Order: sequence, then C-alpha cells, then structure tokens
Amino acid sequence: MNKINLELVKEGFANGVAKGRPLTVAEKGLMIANAEIAFGHFLDALKVNWREDPNSDKTPHRVAKAYVNDLWAGRYEAPPSITTFPSDGYDGMVFEGGIPLTSMCSHHHQTIMGKVHVAYIPGKDSQVIGLSKLNRLVEHFARRGAIQEQLTVAIHNAMDTIISDNNGVAVMIDATHNCVQCRGVKHGGASMKTSKLTGAFKDDSATRMEYYEFVRGYN
Ligand SMILES: [Zn+2]
Repeated sequence: MNKINLELVKEGFANGVAKGRPLTVAEKGLMIANAEIAFGHFLDALKVNWREDPNSDKTPHRVAKAYVNDLWAGRYEAPPSITTFPSDGYDGMVFEGGIPLTSMCSHHHQTIMGKVHVAYIPGKDSQVIGLSKLNRLVEHFARRGAIQEQLTVAIHNAMDTIISDNNGVAVMIDATHNCVQCRGVKHGGASMKTSKLTGAFKDDSATRMEYYEFVRGYN
C-alpha cells in the first residue's frame, strides 16, 4: 500500500513532503542542528538575548526539534502502512468521528486545532481499512504546514485511493485557527468547517443526512 503515491502537492512545499523522505534518524538530527542555528538567527533579528536568558537558551533547539519530530513529522516520515480487510459483504457506512486534529497553517505557522470526521461506504469488492489507520492518515497529512481546504482534499484523496471501488468517501474538518484568534483580526471562537463528499455522500441525500447526523454527535 505504501507504493501508492498519496501526495497531491509539489515535493518540498510546506504542505507536501520533504525531498528524500523518509529521513533517517541521522538526517533528522542534521536537520534539527541546521534549523536550530537558523532559529537562533531569527531570535537575534528580534533582538532577543536568548544565549543568556535561562528560559530561552535552549529554545532554538526545542523549536527545531518540535518541527521535525512533531509539528511537521508528516513531511519527513513514510506514509503509514495501511492494513485492509475484506468487507465480507458489509455495504453500509463506516464512520469515524472526532479524530483529533493538530496542524499548523502554512501562512502564519500558527496552530490549527479541531476535529476530523471521516466516512466511507465500501463497494461490493472493496476492502475495509483497519480503523486506527484512518487516524494515522489524518496525522500524516495534518502534521505539516496546512491549508484546511487542501488538507480536507488530501485526506479524502488518500481514503478514496486506498479503498478502491468504494461507493463514497466523506471528510469534514471543523477547526479553529490560532492565526485568526491571536493575530490580524483577533477573533476568538470562530471556527472553519470544510467538507469533501463523493459518491453516495454527494449523490444521495439520505446518505448525506446520515453522515451529518453522525457528525452532529461530536459537536
Ligand atoms: Zn494562518
């Protein structure tokens, strides 16, 4: 399954994957060391005496490590290996709601926090995905720079590709953007919803209603 290319944006873009991924531990270590030096210069430019400040002297290292190992981990790691199983005749909806989303906007490098609700309907000869793999797919695409609209499409495309011959895939993201809350307009509480529906979710109103009924349980 890892042979399938699930990437939609150009290699190297913040919401894409890094050239040469998956990186080895040594390559990540070198990346952290380089990013640490650069972030020290960033703080210098902001006139922070970080070298003598006991709360800031390790900050360039902490920030670099957080980007490589956590915030942008999806850019540097291999895609999750996806286990699939025969659907054994199940042709109803498979729904997983409330998947925690932690991401970062490509524009301002501020957090995006929210929930992802995904669903699909296996076709007669489709495979079903191991449930936790849906969470892992969300993590893989969210742990990068992100544009919520594109992230929605990326998760949808991955599910649609992996669950071949499906009868529909639905992805909805409900998230708050720190860049809206803390800078610019500074509006707390505003959230953004995006959705991508195909197959029965788009064409059949009863299926769509059932999906949104399930989503409502997480609000
Ligand atoms: Zn932003």
